[in-house]
Amino acid sequence: MLPPELPVGERLHARLTWHGMAAGSDAFALHVVGSILGIAAQECAEAGTLHEAAGLDPVEMRALFTLLFPDALPLLRAFAEGAAAPSADEAALRDLLWMHAGEGSPLEHFLVRMVARRSMRPNHLWQDLGLGSRRELGALMQRYFPRLARKNSSDMKWKKFFYRMLCSAAEFRLCTAPVCSECDDFDACFGGEDGESLLARARRAAPMEMRL
Ligand code: SF4
Repeated sequence: MLPPELPVGERLHARLTWHGMAAGSDAFALHVVGSILGIAAQECAEAGTLHEAAGLDPVEMRALFTLLFPDALPLLRAFAEGAAAPSADEAALRDLLWMHAGEGSPLEHFLVRMVARRSMRPNHLWQDLGLGSRRELGALMQRYFPRLARKNSSDMKWKKFFYRMLCSAAEFRLCTAPVCSECDDFDACFGGEDGESLLARARRAAPMEMRL
């Protein structure tokens, strides 16, 4: 039984994890996907749809549920359907992520879409993925996008790193200095990414918007 005061994002994360563990799905995959869908559910309690916030269309969303937590499919009835097409930047980021996916697995296919959509949000990427820390994002990248993780050996902020990769692929350069160590924007690209988990913040801020 989940505490009734938990906001929708954490409730969804907990229920998906429970269903996924019962189905024998991988625990880390459940945490990652549950976190992304949890923060997407939290956002759509205010505006938009779960699908828009997560970057999946309704067919993809059902396929993801079927892959990881099939018995949780009825939970989707609590959410309106409706997907948004990716912007040009988001589509380019999808391509970059897919090119660097570890195995090209169905899960990675969905993660590409979710990570690209969540990268369009304004916070640190680990926060916009609903994760608990930047370290969890590092583990996600190592596991599902290992070649990108290797290329980001200097531990650049992930959103900055994505855009640097996209710029260099387009032979375009936003950087104002030839090397990072001489650049005035160094802290913006490499500084700390401290902050509070957005799911934890929602728990503090909201009583309960909707039940699952
Ligand atoms: S620190 Fe400066 S040179 Fe390095 S990626 Fe950032 S903007 Fe570009």
